[in-house]
Amino acid sequence: MRAFFSVITRSREVFFWILCAVLGAVFVASIFYFPLYAAIAEGIVFILLLAIFRAGVPPGPLAAEQRKEKSVGGTEFENIVESIEDTLVVYDTDLTVSLFNPAAEKLFGAKKSAIVGRKFSPEDAKDASLERFIQVLFPTLSPTMIPRSSAGAYPQVVDLAFQDPYLELRVITSPILDRRGETVGFVKVVRDRTHEVSLLKSKSEFIAIASHQLRTPITNIEWVLQSSLSSEGLDENTKQSLQNALISANQLKRTVEDLLHISKIEDGRFGYEFTETDIVAFLESVLEEAYPEARRIGISLYFERPKEPLPPTLIDSKKLGMAVANLIDNAIRYNTQNGKVVVEARKQEQDPYVEISIRDTGIGISHEDIQKIFTKFFRAENATRVKANGSGLGLYIVKNIVQSHGGRVWAESEEGRGSTFYFTIPTDSSLVPPIEAPVGH
Ligand code: ADP
Repeated sequence: MRAFFSVITRSREVFFWILCAVLGAVFVASIFYFPLYAAIAEGIVFILLLAIFRAGVPPGPLAAEQRKEKSVGGTEFENIVESIEDTLVVYDTDLTVSLFNPAAEKLFGAKKSAIVGRKFSPEDAKDASLERFIQVLFPTLSPTMIPRSSAGAYPQVVDLAFQDPYLELRVITSPILDRRGETVGFVKVVRDRTHEVSLLKSKSEFIAIASHQLRTPITNIEWVLQSSLSSEGLDENTKQSLQNALISANQLKRTVEDLLHISKIEDGRFGYEFTETDIVAFLESVLEEAYPEARRIGISLYFERPKEPLPPTLIDSKKLGMAVANLIDNAIRYNTQNGKVVVEARKQEQDPYVEISIRDTGIGISHEDIQKIFTKFFRAENATRVKANGSGLGLYIVKNIVQSHGGRVWAESEEGRGSTFYFTIPTDSSLVPPIEAPVGH
């Protein structure tokens, strides 16, 4: 075929030049023998022909062939689709499948010939041989569906999990647009994450078991240190050593507990129990717990109550209490001598959220570090200088707890001048995620 087109190309070129020569001769002759208008018309035709040829827009099958040579041809495109390891399914807006690659055949155990050209509906899930494919086509039919992108936004990303056989899939759906920008179909890319998720699960299972095992001996050590400290007749040196050992045991226990919380959070089994709560009363109870520590180290802790009553919010007071206590604890620990911590709550004016802030007059966070403080194990250099103890896990837990309530957490700070941590909680219960999703899987 290619040889045929190249022969055509060459003969068309020869023909073009012969035509040019003839027209040129006629043009020259017309100047001498024909009236002026005929000469002008011929001149225009000649110039147009030359312009078309120079512009390099050869007409007919030649153009198609040349374009094909420059871009990836149909066969090459098919080869690419066939060799892609991820599952690829393309269907139009009336759910007729037009592409089903070999990876899709393998994953769904269905032949391309039985799928391509066929229109599908949720009803087809009744056919056992098609069930898995239909559940991917209509993810709400899957036994477990976790949305990973916001509703209505493309690409739509959902994680699906199946039992018997166990399968973890990530499905990414994007629209196919025509030249006018109208949706003419959809492409689904399906990634089999079964192995990856199994590895992550066994890692977090290991952390969960190890943390459990460590908790009991640490509690015993704490208990022995506490009772030794209360014995009489201890000299100052021994007392100080026991005190230091107790602080370290406390720190170790907190880190182990944080690791246990993280493994549960990442597995999606932290077990949230939401109840409608008066957020002001809730904050008061968390602050009540923090006052003694603030007083002990000379930090003034205040609660600025909102001027207007706040709407009730759907929260898990135990889990959110843990997050707020962590933020207040940080504000106290990373403060300066005789520093101040102010907790405030207010209703956001435009959006259906309550915003809570924890402001301190402490060491602050540099612009560079503020991007990293919500990641696991991160501790800023200025913080490690003033407080050697710390796991860098607290804010990661705070972020996940707040997000599981449908809120957002962020910080503003200036190094050396204090920090303010903010988080939001929706006042509209439909904004609270309905199910607890695994994180980082
Ligand atoms: P930890 O306090 O155990 O180090 P966190 O996850 O609670 O762990 O905090 C992570 C890091 O964020 C801290 O080590 C510190 O660098 C920074 N940070 C958090 N809160 C504050 C604060 N109020 N002021 C200054 N730095 C803070």
